[in-house]
Amino acid sequence: MEEKKFKRTTVTAALPYANGGVHIGHLAGVYVPADIYVRYLRLKKREVVFIGGSDEHGVPITLRAKKEGITPQDVCDRYHKMIKDSFEEFGISFDVYSRTTSETHHKFASDFFRKLYDDGKLTEQVSEQYYDEEAHQFLADRYIMGECPHCGNPNAYGDQCEKCGSDLSPMELKNPHSTISGSQPVMKQTKNWYLPLNEYQEWLKQWILDGHKEWRSNVYGQCKSWLDMDLQPRAMTRDLDWGIPVPVKDAEGKVLYVWFDAPIGYISNTKEMCERDPERFGNWEKWWKDPETRLVHFIGKDNIVFHCLIFPTMLKPTATIFCPTTCRQTSSSTLRTTRFRRARTGRSGCTSTCAISKASRMCCAMCSRPTPRRPRTTTSRGKTFRSATTPSWWQYTETSSTARCN
Ligand SMILES: [Zn+2]
Repeated sequence: MEEKKFKRTTVTAALPYANGGVHIGHLAGVYVPADIYVRYLRLKKREVVFIGGSDEHGVPITLRAKKEGITPQDVCDRYHKMIKDSFEEFGISFDVYSRTTSETHHKFASDFFRKLYDDGKLTEQVSEQYYDEEAHQFLADRYIMGECPHCGNPNAYGDQCEKCGSDLSPMELKNPHSTISGSQPVMKQTKNWYLPLNEYQEWLKQWILDGHKEWRSNVYGQCKSWLDMDLQPRAMTRDLDWGIPVPVKDAEGKVLYVWFDAPIGYISNTKEMCERDPERFGNWEKWWKDPETRLVHFIGKDNIVFHCLIFPTMLKPTATIFCPTTCRQTSSSTLRTTRFRRARTGRSGCTSTCAISKASRMCCAMCSRPTPRRPRTTTSRGKTFRSATTPSWWQYTETSSTARCN
Protein backbone atom coordinates (compact mmCIF):
# COMPACT_ATOMS: atom_id res chain seq x y z
CA MET A 1 0.00 0.00 0.00
CA GLU A 2 1.39 3.37 -0.91
CA GLU A 3 2.16 5.54 2.02
CA LYS A 4 0.20 8.70 2.41
CA LYS A 5 2.21 11.86 1.87
CA PHE A 6 1.74 14.30 4.72
CA LYS A 7 2.29 18.00 4.53
CA ARG A 8 3.98 18.36 7.91
CA THR A 9 5.17 16.27 10.85
CA THR A 10 4.77 16.61 14.61
CA VAL A 11 7.49 14.66 16.40
CA THR A 12 7.29 13.98 20.12
CA ALA A 13 9.85 12.37 22.40
CA ALA A 14 8.74 10.71 25.65
CA LEU A 15 8.60 13.22 28.49
CA PRO A 16 11.36 12.32 30.97
CA TYR A 17 10.21 12.02 34.56
CA ALA A 18 11.53 14.85 36.72
CA ASN A 19 12.91 12.97 39.68
CA GLY A 20 16.32 12.18 38.25
CA GLY A 21 18.67 13.12 35.44
CA VAL A 22 18.78 11.69 31.94
CA HIS A 23 21.37 9.04 31.25
CA ILE A 24 22.99 7.55 28.19
CA GLY A 25 20.23 4.94 27.86
CA HIS A 26 17.56 7.62 27.52
CA LEU A 27 19.62 9.47 24.96
CA ALA A 28 20.54 6.42 22.91
CA GLY A 29 17.08 4.95 22.94
CA VAL A 30 14.79 7.91 22.46
CA TYR A 31 16.22 11.39 22.16
CA VAL A 32 19.13 10.95 19.76
CA PRO A 33 17.09 8.89 17.26
CA ALA A 34 14.28 11.44 17.47
CA ASP A 35 16.75 14.27 17.00
CA ILE A 36 18.33 12.60 13.98
CA TYR A 37 14.91 12.09 12.44
CA VAL A 38 13.92 15.72 13.00
CA ARG A 39 17.22 17.07 11.69
CA TYR A 40 16.81 14.92 8.61
CA LEU A 41 13.34 16.33 7.94
CA ARG A 42 14.62 19.86 8.46
CA LEU A 43 17.45 19.26 5.99
CA LYS A 44 14.86 18.02 3.51
CA LYS A 45 13.06 21.35 4.07
CA ARG A 46 10.02 19.58 5.47
CA GLU A 47 7.68 21.34 7.87
CA VAL A 48 8.35 19.75 11.25
CA VAL A 49 8.24 20.50 14.99
CA PHE A 50 10.01 18.59 17.74
CA ILE A 51 8.13 18.57 21.05
CA GLY A 52 9.66 17.73 24.42
CA GLY A 53 9.14 18.48 28.08
CA SER A 54 9.40 17.16 31.62
CA ASP A 55 6.77 14.95 33.22
CA GLU A 56 6.35 16.38 36.72
CA HIS A 57 3.44 14.67 38.44
CA GLY A 58 2.94 11.29 40.11
CA VAL A 59 3.93 9.65 43.37
CA PRO A 60 7.73 9.19 43.12
CA ILE A 61 8.26 12.96 43.07
CA THR A 62 6.22 13.34 46.26
CA LEU A 63 8.24 10.56 47.90
CA ARG A 64 11.53 12.20 47.02
CA ALA A 65 10.26 15.55 48.27
CA LYS A 66 9.22 14.04 51.56
CA LYS A 67 12.53 12.25 51.97
CA GLU A 68 14.48 15.43 51.36
CA GLY A 69 12.15 17.68 53.34
CA ILE A 70 11.38 19.90 50.34
CA THR A 71 8.27 20.44 48.23
CA PRO A 72 7.41 18.41 45.11
CA GLN A 73 7.73 21.63 43.14
CA ASP A 74 11.31 21.99 44.44
CA VAL A 75 12.07 18.48 43.17
CA CYS A 76 10.61 19.29 39.76
CA ASP A 77 12.44 22.60 39.51
CA ARG A 78 15.75 20.94 40.24
CA TYR A 79 15.39 18.04 37.81
CA HIS A 80 13.58 19.93 35.08
CA LYS A 81 16.54 22.32 34.91
CA MET A 82 19.05 19.48 35.04
CA ILE A 83 17.30 17.54 32.26
CA LYS A 84 16.73 20.61 30.10
CA ASP A 85 20.37 21.66 30.44
CA SER A 86 21.53 18.13 29.60
CA PHE A 87 19.49 18.09 26.41
CA GLU A 88 20.88 21.45 25.41
CA GLU A 89 24.42 20.33 26.09
CA PHE A 90 23.86 17.18 24.05
CA GLY A 91 22.45 19.25 21.21
CA ILE A 92 18.97 17.72 21.19
CA SER A 93 17.15 20.26 19.04
CA PHE A 94 13.69 20.54 20.57
CA ASP A 95 11.52 23.36 19.28
CA VAL A 96 10.01 23.50 22.73
CA TYR A 97 11.00 21.91 26.01
CA SER A 98 8.36 22.73 28.59
CA ARG A 99 6.94 21.00 31.64
CA THR A 100 3.69 19.55 32.92
CA THR A 101 3.61 21.93 35.88
CA SER A 102 3.22 24.88 33.50
CA GLU A 103 0.08 26.96 33.66
CA THR A 104 -0.70 26.24 30.01
CA HIS A 105 -0.50 22.50 30.61
CA HIS A 106 -2.58 22.56 33.79
CA LYS A 107 -5.35 24.43 32.06
CA PHE A 108 -5.21 22.35 28.89
CA ALA A 109 -5.22 18.99 30.71
CA SER A 110 -7.93 20.15 33.09
CA ASP A 111 -10.14 21.31 30.21
CA PHE A 112 -9.45 18.07 28.35
CA PHE A 113 -10.66 16.00 31.31
CA ARG A 114 -13.63 18.26 31.83
CA LYS A 115 -14.69 17.86 28.21
CA LEU A 116 -14.62 14.07 28.48
CA TYR A 117 -16.56 14.31 31.74
CA ASP A 118 -19.16 16.70 30.33
CA ASP A 119 -19.64 14.49 27.28
CA GLY A 120 -20.27 11.46 29.50
CA LYS A 121 -17.17 9.67 28.28
CA LEU A 122 -15.90 8.79 31.75
CA THR A 123 -17.46 6.45 34.29
CA GLU A 124 -17.48 6.75 38.08
CA GLN A 125 -16.43 3.84 40.22
CA VAL A 126 -16.10 3.39 43.96
CA SER A 127 -13.30 1.20 45.28
CA GLU A 128 -11.68 0.52 48.64
CA GLN A 129 -8.20 1.76 49.41
CA TYR A 130 -5.95 2.14 52.40
CA TYR A 131 -6.42 5.47 54.16
CA ASP A 132 -4.22 7.19 56.74
CA GLU A 133 -6.54 8.63 59.39
CA GLU A 134 -3.82 10.73 60.99
CA ALA A 135 -2.53 12.26 57.78
CA HIS A 136 -6.07 12.38 56.35
CA GLN A 137 -5.15 10.95 52.99
CA PHE A 138 -5.43 7.85 50.84
CA LEU A 139 -2.20 5.92 50.49
CA ALA A 140 -0.52 5.02 47.24
CA ASP A 141 1.19 1.58 47.31
CA ARG A 142 4.57 3.10 48.00
CA TYR A 143 3.23 4.93 51.03
CA ILE A 144 2.45 1.64 52.75
CA MET A 145 5.04 -0.58 54.39
CA GLY A 146 4.72 -3.82 56.26
CA GLU A 147 5.98 -7.35 56.61
CA CYS A 148 6.53 -9.35 53.43
CA PRO A 149 4.30 -12.46 53.45
CA HIS A 150 7.01 -14.38 51.56
CA CYS A 151 10.31 -13.61 53.30
CA GLY A 152 9.28 -11.79 56.47
CA ASN A 153 11.16 -8.59 55.54
CA PRO A 154 9.59 -6.00 57.87
CA ASN A 155 10.21 -3.15 55.41
CA ALA A 156 8.39 -4.36 52.30
CA TYR A 157 6.50 -1.78 50.24
CA GLY A 158 2.85 -2.01 49.27
CA ASP A 159 3.81 -2.94 45.72
CA GLN A 160 7.01 -4.90 46.16
CA CYS A 161 9.41 -6.48 48.60
CA GLU A 162 12.87 -5.23 47.77
CA LYS A 163 14.49 -8.05 49.73
CA CYS A 164 12.99 -11.05 47.96
CA GLY A 165 11.72 -9.25 44.85
CA SER A 166 8.11 -10.43 45.25
CA ASP A 167 5.40 -8.32 43.66
CA LEU A 168 2.85 -7.47 46.31
CA SER A 169 -0.44 -5.73 46.73
CA PRO A 170 -0.87 -3.58 49.86
CA MET A 171 -3.49 -6.04 51.17
CA GLU A 172 -0.88 -8.81 51.35
CA LEU A 173 1.39 -7.00 53.82
CA LYS A 174 1.31 -8.08 57.44
CA ASN A 175 1.11 -5.25 59.97
CA PRO A 176 0.82 -2.53 57.35
CA HIS A 177 1.68 1.00 58.36
CA SER A 178 1.62 4.34 56.66
CA THR A 179 5.02 5.77 55.80
CA ILE A 180 3.56 9.23 56.29
CA SER A 181 2.35 9.05 59.90
CA GLY A 182 3.43 5.57 60.93
CA SER A 183 -0.16 4.76 61.86
CA GLN A 184 -2.06 1.66 60.83
CA PRO A 185 -4.10 2.45 57.73
CA VAL A 186 -7.79 1.62 57.46
CA MET A 187 -9.78 0.62 54.40
CA LYS A 188 -11.95 3.39 53.08
CA GLN A 189 -14.12 3.84 50.03
CA THR A 190 -13.10 6.30 47.38
CA LYS A 191 -14.61 7.42 44.11
CA ASN A 192 -12.59 7.82 40.94
CA TRP A 193 -13.26 8.47 37.27
CA TYR A 194 -12.45 5.80 34.74
CA LEU A 195 -11.78 5.65 31.04
CA PRO A 196 -13.91 2.74 29.80
CA LEU A 197 -11.25 1.10 27.62
CA ASN A 198 -13.55 -1.90 27.26
CA GLU A 199 -15.96 0.22 25.21
CA TYR A 200 -13.18 1.04 22.75
CA GLN A 201 -11.81 -2.46 22.43
CA GLU A 202 -13.53 -3.19 19.11
CA TRP A 203 -12.45 0.14 17.69
CA LEU A 204 -8.87 -0.42 18.85
CA LYS A 205 -8.87 -3.90 17.32
CA GLN A 206 -10.11 -2.61 14.04
CA TRP A 207 -7.84 0.40 14.03
CA ILE A 208 -4.66 -1.42 15.02
CA LEU A 209 -5.05 -5.10 14.15
CA ASP A 210 -6.89 -4.64 10.87
CA GLY A 211 -5.81 -1.16 9.94
CA HIS A 212 -2.16 -1.13 10.84
CA LYS A 213 -0.54 -4.37 9.95
CA GLU A 214 2.41 -2.36 8.78
CA TRP A 215 3.41 -1.48 12.34
CA ARG A 216 6.62 -3.01 13.53
CA SER A 217 6.07 -6.51 14.77
CA ASN A 218 6.94 -5.88 18.42
CA VAL A 219 4.54 -2.93 18.70
CA TYR A 220 1.83 -4.74 16.75
CA GLY A 221 2.44 -7.91 18.75
CA GLN A 222 2.27 -6.15 22.09
CA CYS A 223 -0.93 -4.37 21.11
CA LYS A 224 -2.38 -7.63 19.88
CA SER A 225 -1.58 -9.44 23.10
CA TRP A 226 -3.40 -6.73 25.06
CA LEU A 227 -6.34 -6.67 22.70
CA ASP A 228 -6.67 -10.45 22.72
CA MET A 229 -7.65 -10.12 26.35
CA ASP A 230 -10.52 -8.04 27.64
CA LEU A 231 -9.59 -4.46 28.37
CA GLN A 232 -10.96 -3.07 31.60
CA PRO A 233 -11.90 0.50 32.58
CA ARG A 234 -8.83 2.36 33.79
CA ALA A 235 -8.89 4.99 36.57
CA MET A 236 -7.89 8.41 35.27
CA THR A 237 -7.86 10.08 38.68
CA ARG A 238 -5.97 9.43 41.91
CA ASP A 239 -6.29 10.34 45.58
CA LEU A 240 -3.15 12.41 45.83
CA ASP A 241 -2.25 16.00 46.60
CA TRP A 242 0.34 16.47 43.85
CA GLY A 243 -0.94 16.89 40.31
CA ILE A 244 -3.70 18.60 38.40
CA PRO A 245 -6.87 18.87 40.52
CA VAL A 246 -9.80 16.92 39.09
CA PRO A 247 -12.03 19.70 37.72
CA VAL A 248 -15.40 18.29 38.76
CA LYS A 249 -17.64 18.50 41.81
CA ASP A 250 -16.89 16.26 44.81
CA ALA A 251 -13.33 15.63 43.70
CA GLU A 252 -11.49 17.32 46.50
CA GLY A 253 -8.12 15.75 47.21
CA LYS A 254 -8.03 14.05 43.82
CA VAL A 255 -5.77 14.74 40.88
CA LEU A 256 -5.55 13.56 37.30
CA TYR A 257 -3.67 10.29 36.83
CA VAL A 258 -0.13 11.13 35.75
CA TRP A 259 -0.51 8.96 32.64
CA PHE A 260 -3.62 10.90 31.74
CA ASP A 261 -1.97 14.29 31.88
CA ALA A 262 1.52 13.41 30.60
CA PRO A 263 0.62 12.61 26.95
CA ILE A 264 -1.58 15.70 26.88
CA GLY A 265 1.70 17.48 27.61
CA TYR A 266 2.70 16.90 23.99
CA ILE A 267 -0.26 19.01 22.91
CA SER A 268 -0.04 21.69 25.59
CA ASN A 269 3.68 22.10 24.97
CA THR A 270 2.95 22.55 21.27
CA LYS A 271 0.42 25.20 22.23
CA GLU A 272 2.95 26.97 24.41
CA MET A 273 5.49 26.90 21.58
CA CYS A 274 3.00 28.36 19.12
CA GLU A 275 1.92 31.09 21.51
CA ARG A 276 5.54 32.01 22.04
CA ASP A 277 6.28 32.34 18.34
CA PRO A 278 3.06 32.34 16.30
CA GLU A 279 4.79 33.75 13.25
CA ARG A 280 7.12 30.80 12.99
CA PHE A 281 4.88 27.95 14.16
CA GLY A 282 1.36 29.19 13.49
CA ASN A 283 -1.55 27.83 15.50
CA TRP A 284 -1.09 24.66 17.61
CA GLU A 285 -4.16 23.14 16.02
CA LYS A 286 -2.36 22.87 12.73
CA TRP A 287 0.07 20.44 14.41
CA TRP A 288 -2.62 18.32 16.05
CA LYS A 289 -5.88 18.62 14.13
CA ASP A 290 -5.03 18.96 10.49
CA PRO A 291 -5.38 15.67 8.57
CA GLU A 292 -2.29 16.71 6.64
CA THR A 293 -0.14 16.46 9.77
CA ARG A 294 1.67 13.28 10.61
CA LEU A 295 2.28 12.50 14.29
CA VAL A 296 5.40 10.56 15.24
CA HIS A 297 6.06 9.43 18.80
CA PHE A 298 9.51 8.32 19.97
CA ILE A 299 9.02 6.27 23.13
CA GLY A 300 10.43 3.53 25.30
CA LYS A 301 9.00 0.06 25.04
CA ASP A 302 7.29 0.36 28.42
CA ASN A 303 5.23 3.16 26.96
CA ILE A 304 3.74 1.31 24.00
CA VAL A 305 0.49 0.60 25.77
CA PHE A 306 0.02 4.20 26.85
CA HIS A 307 0.74 5.62 23.41
CA CYS A 308 -0.96 2.93 21.32
CA LEU A 309 -4.00 2.06 23.43
CA ILE A 310 -4.72 4.58 26.17
CA PHE A 311 -3.80 7.92 24.59
CA PRO A 312 -5.75 7.07 21.41
CA THR A 313 -8.72 6.07 23.56
CA MET A 314 -8.51 9.42 25.34
CA LEU A 315 -8.42 11.16 21.98
CA LYS A 316 -11.05 9.06 20.24
CA PRO A 317 -14.08 10.73 21.86
CA THR A 318 -12.75 14.03 20.57
CA ALA A 319 -12.30 12.35 17.19
CA THR A 320 -12.91 15.42 15.16
CA ILE A 321 -10.07 17.06 17.02
CA PHE A 322 -7.16 14.70 17.29
CA CYS A 323 -6.82 11.02 17.12
CA PRO A 324 -4.06 8.89 15.65
CA THR A 325 -5.05 6.40 13.01
CA THR A 326 -1.80 4.81 12.13
CA CYS A 327 1.05 3.78 14.29
CA ARG A 328 4.02 2.66 12.32
CA GLN A 329 7.52 2.32 13.56
CA THR A 330 10.22 3.89 11.50
CA SER A 331 13.12 2.31 13.29
CA SER A 332 13.96 0.60 16.48
CA SER A 333 16.79 0.12 18.86
CA THR A 334 16.96 -2.03 21.91
CA LEU A 335 19.08 -1.60 24.97
CA ARG A 336 19.11 -4.07 27.77
CA THR A 337 21.40 -3.59 30.65
CA THR A 338 21.06 -3.67 34.38
CA ARG A 339 22.43 -0.18 34.63
CA PHE A 340 19.32 1.15 32.96
CA ARG A 341 16.96 -0.53 35.32
CA ARG A 342 14.06 1.67 36.25
CA ALA A 343 12.42 2.19 39.58
CA ARG A 344 9.94 -0.61 39.98
CA THR A 345 6.99 1.38 41.14
CA GLY A 346 4.25 2.75 38.96
CA ARG A 347 4.53 6.48 38.59
CA SER A 348 1.02 6.87 39.81
CA GLY A 349 1.61 4.64 42.77
CA CYS A 350 -1.33 2.77 41.36
CA THR A 351 -3.13 0.95 44.11
CA SER A 352 -5.89 -0.57 42.06
CA THR A 353 -5.87 -4.15 41.05
CA CYS A 354 -5.59 -4.80 37.39
CA ALA A 355 -7.74 -2.14 35.84
CA ILE A 356 -7.08 -2.81 32.22
CA SER A 357 -7.17 -6.54 32.15
CA LYS A 358 -7.90 -9.43 34.43
CA ALA A 359 -4.58 -10.95 33.48
CA SER A 360 -2.01 -10.06 36.06
CA ARG A 361 0.77 -9.45 33.59
CA MET A 362 -1.32 -6.69 32.05
CA CYS A 363 -1.59 -5.02 35.40
CA CYS A 364 2.13 -5.19 35.73
CA ALA A 365 2.71 -3.53 32.42
CA MET A 366 0.09 -0.91 33.07
CA CYS A 367 1.50 -0.08 36.45
CA SER A 368 5.09 -0.35 35.26
CA ARG A 369 5.44 -3.18 37.72
CA PRO A 370 7.53 -6.19 36.83
CA THR A 371 5.57 -8.72 34.89
CA PRO A 372 5.75 -12.42 35.66
CA ARG A 373 9.02 -13.87 34.51
CA ARG A 374 7.59 -16.37 32.07
CA PRO A 375 7.27 -14.88 28.60
CA ARG A 376 3.98 -15.13 26.81
CA THR A 377 3.81 -15.73 23.14
CA THR A 378 1.18 -14.71 20.70
CA THR A 379 0.86 -15.62 17.06
CA SER A 380 -0.19 -13.26 14.34
CA ARG A 381 0.33 -13.11 10.62
CA GLY A 382 2.22 -16.35 10.82
CA LYS A 383 4.77 -14.88 13.22
CA THR A 384 5.22 -15.56 16.88
CA PHE A 385 5.69 -12.60 19.18
CA ARG A 386 7.08 -12.76 22.65
CA SER A 387 5.44 -10.36 25.00
CA ALA A 388 7.53 -8.11 27.19
CA THR A 389 8.68 -10.04 30.21
CA THR A 390 10.89 -7.45 31.84
CA PRO A 391 9.29 -4.03 31.67
CA SER A 392 11.42 -2.88 34.56
CA TRP A 393 14.38 -2.96 32.23
CA TRP A 394 14.75 -0.30 29.62
CA GLN A 395 14.04 -1.61 26.20
CA TYR A 396 13.72 1.11 23.71
CA THR A 397 11.53 1.22 20.71
CA GLU A 398 10.66 4.23 18.69
CA THR A 399 7.12 4.24 17.57
CA SER A 400 5.82 6.47 14.91
CA SER A 401 2.20 7.16 14.50
CA THR A 402 0.54 9.19 11.90
CA ALA A 403 -2.36 11.27 12.89
CA ARG A 404 -6.07 11.25 12.29
CA CYS A 405 -8.91 8.92 12.68
CA ASN A 406 -11.78 8.47 10.35
ZN1 LIG B 1 10.01 -10.47 50.70
